[in-house]
Amino acid sequence: MPRIEDLLQNNRAWRDQTERDRPGFFQNLASQQEPRFLWIGCADSRVPANQIIGLDPGMVFVHRNVANLVVHSDLNCLAVLDYAVNVLRIQDIIVCGHYGCGGVTAALQPGSGRIVDHWIRHVRDIAKFYRSEVEAEPTAAAQIRRLCELNVAVQVVHVRESPVLQAAAERNVRVHGWIYDVADGLLRDLTPTVDALRAIEPACRIAPPDAAGR
Ligand SMILES: [Zn+2]
Repeated sequence: MPRIEDLLQNNRAWRDQTERDRPGFFQNLASQQEPRFLWIGCADSRVPANQIIGLDPGMVFVHRNVANLVVHSDLNCLAVLDYAVNVLRIQDIIVCGHYGCGGVTAALQPGSGRIVDHWIRHVRDIAKFYRSEVEAEPTAAAQIRRLCELNVAVQVVHVRESPVLQAAAERNVRVHGWIYDVADGLLRDLTPTVDALRAIEPACRIAPPDAAGR
């Protein structure tokens, strides 16, 4: 297991190697940030965004939290979304969940009484809403996998329904739902599943600019 001191040495070695391979790499990065993608993923240490999609620093804007949630009132996530869409002008947003997610697994078990339970409650609500779909799976492991997928789908809908995305509707920002398997290192595209869920609920629509007096 590496010690904390090793990390700084690792950094120096990585930086020197990168600079040898691509002279001027960091100088170029320092002058601009133009990522093509926004990644909303789980905080799980086994799902490092850049690494699993093979992208260098500077190419993906990243937001991560426990169970890759997009909560309507989470200012942290909403600020990332706003900056990504309206300042960085990103056209592709990836919501990526993963099988074996501890946050999703916890949502199918009794609460611990810890602070994290309040966060996981959002996943419990999804489990409750899609109970028949989850319980149709034959084993506990399959039920967790299904809830991992449904969680991704719901978070994609949350991004699409967000006022940030609705206000940018004419730009046709694409929102993708992916799931990563920590057991084989592969990503799978769940977007067709998400598309089958539903369009923006009327109750979640923001008023068009004219009606809102803007
Ligand atoms: Zn997770």
